[in-house]
Amino acid sequence: MKSFFGVYIKPLYHIPMNLPSLAEARHVIGICGGAVGGSEAAALIAKKGCIAVVFEQNIRPYGKIEDGLPRWHSKLRAKEYAKIDENLATPGVVFVPGTRLGMDLSFSTLSNNAGLSALILAHGAWLDRPLPIEGADRFIGNGLSYQNPFVYWFNHYEESGFSGEDFPIHDDAIVIGGGLASIDVCKILNLELYTRALRDRGITADVEEMELRGIPRTVEAHGYTPDDFAIRGCTLFYRRGKEDMPLENISNPTAQRMEKLRGTRAKIMDKVMRKYLVRFQPNVVPVEGVEEGGVLNGVVFQRTEIVDGRVKRLEGTEFIVRSKQIISSIGSTPTPIDGVRMEGELYRWQNRDEGRLVDGVYGLGNVLTGKGNIVESRRNSKAITPAVVDRVLASPKIPPEGISEIVSLIKARWDVVGYPGDYVDWMNAKSSTA
Ligand SMILES: Cc1cc2nc3c(=O)[nH]c(=O)nc-3n(C[C@H](O)[C@H](O)[C@H](O)COP(=O)(O)OP(=O)(O)OC[C@H]3O[C@@H](n4cnc5c(N)ncnc54)[C@H](O)[C@@H]3O)c2cc1C
Repeated sequence: MKSFFGVYIKPLYHIPMNLPSLAEARHVIGICGGAVGGSEAAALIAKKGCIAVVFEQNIRPYGKIEDGLPRWHSKLRAKEYAKIDENLATPGVVFVPGTRLGMDLSFSTLSNNAGLSALILAHGAWLDRPLPIEGADRFIGNGLSYQNPFVYWFNHYEESGFSGEDFPIHDDAIVIGGGLASIDVCKILNLELYTRALRDRGITADVEEMELRGIPRTVEAHGYTPDDFAIRGCTLFYRRGKEDMPLENISNPTAQRMEKLRGTRAKIMDKVMRKYLVRFQPNVVPVEGVEEGGVLNGVVFQRTEIVDGRVKRLEGTEFIVRSKQIISSIGSTPTPIDGVRMEGELYRWQNRDEGRLVDGVYGLGNVLTGKGNIVESRRNSKAITPAVVDRVLASPKIPPEGISEIVSLIKARWDVVGYPGDYVDWMNAKSSTA
């Protein structure tokens, strides 16, 4: 739908997405979150003859594709944007941007009072898991950062008019993590360090190009070696070894396949170290922060060993690592919402396989699993949505008075955000920074 010039072109079949008819009884399913999982569900629902109303907190619906996945994934991003656009422009899908569940509309409104046939939660996992150092969060912005806002900054800071939180880049940063996202954080730090160092020598280097070629090959192409820059680069601190990093997974592996998998993981990390000059410290856990003048400027780590697959801390092995920049990247979990019961850091699902939270309320994608990837969110949406629709279709339609109330709620939100009622027009207006 998006042309080469970055302008959304209305496809020939495009019909402006008007509100559902006020005169007709219909089945209407609400969806919170309009990215991979939510948009897929919306299109499936609409194709089965129900109305899908997508409440999305942001002005644009791309979720982790735009704000999580680092911007060097430009081809993957473009492909996923196009898929989300196609889904949300499907006749029968009503988009309601700038509407956050738990803030602009409460869970009890959407799950009960609005009179929807069902509600699907597809709002992802955006809460950074807290760094396991007591009181560490008082240093946020004062030495400590979390992965989600940091990657958001990286993806957007070059956009004109960017007014979000700014992040400094310091050499020798500490990154605490071990999953794929923590590797992206390390790559961002080192790519930024070398881009800036080249710029200081009058050389313009593009972060995306450097990500593709790697740091050593990029600086060599300009007549330097990495040693010429005296950059130490960041270090990734992980509680287990390289072979245990969840960088590649298979379900129910045999012992032989597990051994192979462990080798593959180590190779992936070795490549990250070579290509992006990331340093790696295995078998450590953070136990304490080092504070100086109200700023976090170091971490006390304790060494670990793996016993029967479990992480065992080794008393008396503590050591201090100092740094001006400490980034915690140990995963994201669904944000607690008033009215949604929690089980640990996840929502309390009545039936996780069906994605059922309570009767009439379902979930899919990252919000259900608390982790995952693009393929999994889409697959999960395709697995859960049809059964939700079948249940809804077996229930009575919402009578015209009920439809009229839902329409009033949608229109009230549209008025607040200035949404014209047409997805394609809206995205054309909001795509200047894409
Ligand atoms: C650093 C990083 C790198 C990654 N790299 C890859 C990769 O290379 N390959 C890959 O496959 N996957 C990758 N992923 C994971 C992948 O991006 C996600 O698993 C996937 O996009 C999640 O899709 P989703 O629709 O389930 O959730 P999300 O994309 O999180 O969508 C949720 C939507 O809900 C909205 N929302 C949130 N809260 C509310 C609310 N209260 N009310 C209304 N709307 C709300 C959000 O704005 C968003 O649009 C990466 C993730 C990160 C963080």
